[in-house]
Amino acid sequence: MYEPKATSWTSVVVNEFVSLQLVATSPILDWFVSISYDDFDSSLSSAAKAFLSEPISFFTSRLPTVTATAVAAYLSWVVFQACLYVFVPGPLHQAPRTPGGRRLLYRLNGFSAWAVTVALAAYASYAGFVDPAVIAKHWTTTIATAMVYSFALIGIFYIKARVVPDNKGDTLLTGHFWYDLFNGGELHPRTGQLFDWKHFNASRTGGILAWTLIFFETLDGAHERFSFYNIFGFAVMMPHLWTLQTQYLATHPVRLSTPAVVLVVIGFAVGWTINHIANEQKAASRRTNGKFRIGGQEAKTVEAKYHTADGKTHRTILLCSGLWGIVRHPNYVGSITYAWASCLPCGSGHLLPYLEAILVTGICIHRCFRDEARCKAKYGEAWAEYCQHVKSRLIPGVF
Ligand code: NDP
Repeated sequence: MYEPKATSWTSVVVNEFVSLQLVATSPILDWFVSISYDDFDSSLSSAAKAFLSEPISFFTSRLPTVTATAVAAYLSWVVFQACLYVFVPGPLHQAPRTPGGRRLLYRLNGFSAWAVTVALAAYASYAGFVDPAVIAKHWTTTIATAMVYSFALIGIFYIKARVVPDNKGDTLLTGHFWYDLFNGGELHPRTGQLFDWKHFNASRTGGILAWTLIFFETLDGAHERFSFYNIFGFAVMMPHLWTLQTQYLATHPVRLSTPAVVLVVIGFAVGWTINHIANEQKAASRRTNGKFRIGGQEAKTVEAKYHTADGKTHRTILLCSGLWGIVRHPNYVGSITYAWASCLPCGSGHLLPYLEAILVTGICIHRCFRDEARCKAKYGEAWAEYCQHVKSRLIPGVF
């Protein structure tokens, strides 16, 4: 297991406290944003003032409504996506080795499933079966239903990890309730041979990246457990908070000047390109075992070893040229850049549509430390050698 362990009682208490805070406040924050959008004309500060003057009734008078129709519609969506996940054909892909030593298979049919979904939605709205704005018109109820769905998954998979943990070394529970609920649990819970709950949740309810091969080599795909952080993040926070720009612009149209449009387009393209090239360079380094060229030169790598729970030792490489030779997390630089560029079209009227960029920046900075602690625990000396070669995390010479 590569996770750095909390060894002292103080770190256990801190972990429990922080996990409890995050489990309790994430849904409240999400709901606060929803109320700000619906009842305070997207003004977070007006909503905050109202909350401070009447903290209890601010929420109790605006409790989320979950209707039977919304539950039926949401479940139909999940079941439909699950059918596509299982039945749409696609090649099989062998993911990187898990901490337990397994290499799991995934069916790569995300793009075909997306095409079927979009084609059916287009036909249903063209034929008049479905109002194309149905989700936008019932957005608050949809978010509330997604919350209920994610709480159900979190509960079910927490209990499953406790009662019937997988016996392959890929379940990690510390016995500390809040930490395990937030962070612990099974790595790749499966029903049958190919239905992987974490991959399904990430690729069909939230993140588009999870459709791609690169997902399997990321922190989310390879190391994040199927627990609160992963489930609530992908099923509720990303679909809600990462789409606030569109929702905001529907009610607060902004006319951008030509230079602003050019700046936004260039910013987005640059961020997306950095992210894509960084992810591709890392994937190529693993695919070719470091035997490839970047910019006409042989890629430089550091040899690394790690151990899996089945007692075996494996070797791999850490890429230290290309973008990965400039900073240790070049893909985050790209993500942060295009997140800000995608918020800028919302102008300077309100903070609310900038939440994606603020959260992505915070998450990526936090991930720099979290991922590095894990890599240090996994690779030891080899990670220290890589850090000697590549000293900065995100901005050369600064951070
Ligand atoms: P990463 O793609 O950054 O993967 C981290 C893993 O890559 C490490 O755990 C390690 O895994 C491996 N690795 C680290 N350094 C090297 C190296 N030098 N050479 C080879 N392998 C290395 O994980 P994330 O899940 O954090 O990010 C995935 C994607 O999502 C990125 O594109 C990121 O920018 C984006 N992102 C987007 C967010 C958003 O909300 N828009 C938020 C956060 C991330 P191993 O054990 O295999 O060695």
